[in-house]
Formats: sequence, C-alpha cells, structure tokens
Amino acid sequence: MAYDSFGRNIHYLRISLTDKCNMRCVYCMPEDMFFRPTAELMSRGECLRLVRLFVELGVDKIRLTGGEPTVHPDLIPIIRGIRDLGVRKISMTTNGLRLAELAKPLKDAGLERVNVSLDTLNAEKFHRITRWGKLDRVMAGIYAAEAVGLTPLKINAVVARGFNDDDVADLAALTLTHRWQVRYIEMMPFGDVAEFAQDAVVSQEEIMQRIEAELGPLELVDNGRLDGEAKLYRLKGSLAPIGFISTVTNPFCATCSRVRLTADGKLRLCLLRDDEGDLLTPLRGGASDADLKKRIEGLIWRKPWGHGLPDGVIPMQRVMSQIGG
Ligand code: SAM
Repeated sequence: MAYDSFGRNIHYLRISLTDKCNMRCVYCMPEDMFFRPTAELMSRGECLRLVRLFVELGVDKIRLTGGEPTVHPDLIPIIRGIRDLGVRKISMTTNGLRLAELAKPLKDAGLERVNVSLDTLNAEKFHRITRWGKLDRVMAGIYAAEAVGLTPLKINAVVARGFNDDDVADLAALTLTHRWQVRYIEMMPFGDVAEFAQDAVVSQEEIMQRIEAELGPLELVDNGRLDGEAKLYRLKGSLAPIGFISTVTNPFCATCSRVRLTADGKLRLCLLRDDEGDLLTPLRGGASDADLKKRIEGLIWRKPWGHGLPDGVIPMQRVMSQIGG
C-alpha cells in the first residue's frame, strides 16, 4: 500500500498511453500540436513493467487515457497485460472515434468499461469543438461499447461558452432514454490553452439552471456523497444520474487517491500541478525493480495536498492531452 504524506492511500493509476490524438478539441490542445517522438515514449514492455510495480505497491484501479488511447498500436496487448497482472478495474477514457471497431476486442482483452467524451449532440458544433471529430462515428462507438458490455458507460462533457453552452440540456436528456451517466467536467486551464479555458468556462450553477429550465428539477443523489470525483443528481424518471466534476470550484483533493503516468514515463502527482518525477530514465538506465519501487513510493509521498488555482498557480508545462484527463 502506498500513502502520501497526508495519509491518503494512493491506489488509482491513470496512464496516458500516448500524447497523440485524432481530434484537436479547442480546450485541450492547439491545432498544430507538436507530439513527442515515439522513442521518447514508453514502449509496451516498459509500460507494463511500471504497471507491475504499481500493482505490487497496491494499485488496484487503472484508467487508460491520452492523447487518444485508441490510436496506440499496442492498446489491446497492454490491456491484456494489465489484466494478466490481476487488475480487474480497468477503464478507458476515449473520444470514441475508433470505438465501433474496437469495442469487442477491448472487452475481450479485459477492459471493464469506458468513458466517452461527447460535448454536444449537434454535428456541426461537434466538429467546431473537436476540429476533426465526426459525431456519427462517436455515436456508433457509444452504441457498440454498450452492446459489448463496456458498462456502466459514462459520457464526459466539457462545456465551453460560445461552443456548446446551449446544448447542456440535450446531453442531460440522454439520461432519460439511456443508462449512460452524463458528467459535466469543469474546464481547467493548462499551458497554451489556459487563457481560453479561463475565458470560456461555464459554472456548474449555470449548467444546472439550463438543465432545470428545460427538463425539470435535478435531485441530489446520495446526499451529495461523491461518486469518484463527481457529485450526482437525477432527473425525474431518468435511467442514469447526471454528474458534475467541478475540480476548480469544488475540488475533491481530500479524497484524491490517484497519480498519473504520462506517455513519456513521468509520474505526475496532481493533475493541476507541474510537479513530476521521471521513471522512464532510471528504468532505461538499468534501475532494479526495488530501486524503481522506492522511487515511486518517494514520489507518492510528496504528492501535494491539492491544486493551486486559487493562488494563481496554473500548470504550464503540459496541456491536458499530454497528461491524460
Ligand atoms: N482523447 C480521450 C478523450 O477525448 O476522452 C482521452 C484524453 S482527454 C485529454 C480526457 C478528457 O479530458 C476528455 O473528456 C476531455 O474532454 C477532457 N479535457 C481536455 N482538456 C480539458 C480541459 N482544459 N479542461 C477540462 N477537461 C478537459
């Protein structure tokens, strides 16, 4: 079991398998994004070796993300490798573009469930937000994932003023007809897109008002107890809850149990702080398992309590696609 200096048990690892993506969402990265050369990224073997060490240190929950994990050529064998290490809680965050063709092999390899990012049901707006995305392909991916049992399926929506703030009720209405949890993620500032994220952010309060004006009252679920990082509500007669992940205005740092491994093998201790520790360089330099585990434990110990946005500390070294959401 690994603990940080505040006594939090860190047992949830998010792995950004690649920084590459087949979309260019306006709040995530610039269109002319520079990607790291493959040689600087973890190979399948390096990634699985680090995962094994994390599992030996008590990690029992893993989320694969990116960039876009489905553009990684070794995604399926990596999932199989993680499952063979005994991890059962394996999930993935994806933009869904390749999900229709990959859902079945992903399930067979051991993936438990998926979160699909979907910010609007309007094809034109979807293209404007994602720059390269195609809504019909993502919807086909969502249905395919549901059909093979990559469930409970969650939809992640980021709301950006002037792009999709009019669409929040349409997304919420999905919970009336589908068992898909729709979650609104508050936009966060990172590096090159920090200014945009701050200018275009839409508050949870406004999103709730817009939903209630069209669809009726939202009832708090479970007295507001967090489900992971989300506070849940329900529309009357719905099949699934609606979640709000308001990292900036309503942080859940006290219950944080996660660290993030970036595609270039750095352990990022807090999503919104630049503090990281290099694992890939020592691994490539011949470090033993015991050395690497000691390094991981030391890094986890130095995990900061929480983010520094209220004090104006904005992470500048990476954008979201290089960290993994
Ligand atoms: N490509 C995958 C996807 O689209 O789901 C996984 C990586 S993406 C970085 C993970 C999540 O981060 C997505 O749901 C995306 O909408 C969200 N995201 C990206 N930039 C963000 C930002 N500035 N603030 C909040 N969420 C952001």
